Amino acid sequence: MRYVILSDVHGNLEALQAVIDEIKRLRYEKLVFLGDIVGYGANPNEVIEIIRSLVDRPLTLAGNHDYAAIGLTDISYFNSSAMEAILWTGECLTEKNIGYLRGLKVDLTYEGLTFAHSSPKEPDKWHYIMDISDAIENFDFFDTRICFVGHSHIPIIIEKDSTGDINIYNGEKRLNSECRYIINIGSVGQPRDRDPRSSFAVYDSETETIEIKRVSYDIAEAQEKILEKGLPFQLAYRLAYGR
Ligand code: ZN
Repeated sequence: MRYVILSDVHGNLEALQAVIDEIKRLRYEKLVFLGDIVGYGANPNEVIEIIRSLVDRPLTLAGNHDYAAIGLTDISYFNSSAMEAILWTGECLTEKNIGYLRGLKVDLTYEGLTFAHSSPKEPDKWHYIMDISDAIENFDFFDTRICFVGHSHIPIIIEKDSTGDINIYNGEKRLNSECRYIINIGSVGQPRDRDPRSSFAVYDSETETIEIKRVSYDIAEAQEKILEKGLPFQLAYRLAYGR
């Protein structure tokens, strides 16, 4: 089966449209979304409506910003611009879209694969997997061979080999059947690995290949809309630098 896996759109309609244009050219059977449809960007309702029409409901996860926008998780740890954006987002959401976000879970096991927005360890606690020790710990918290995550907005393929060693890859990788993997697919709407292009993944379970893909989008338009809505300047600025 070929999967396209998207995450962390964060209300960035221009980025989502560019990624959709790209995936239309790809052959795949299943689309999976790993959460954070909203937060930061200028078009939360529009992006929810596209994700809802595109991705099967059971294969759509919520992230911390989705839950925060509807009051389902604490936002006291958000930085000031994230908080300002999430309060604005919460006020804009339609009743229908609030109901939709409320129905989404934060992790999923499907066809022998684990998917989580943040981490398999405690998916509703929004931990980040940012270094080798986080990765080593998290390999103990899922039973499948492969776990896909989002949340950090930094794409990376983390391999645990049969000796327990951790190896790191990016881009395209043929997976080894003897190894286990935590794969962060990066962010569609706010990449943070100093590459401003949208990131997502294509995984083929037959050939056992994973490909982290990058797509350019109209960053200037997304920035202009953030500023028009009166959202914090940094949320527009950072998009150009992928950080
Ligand atoms: Zn996010």
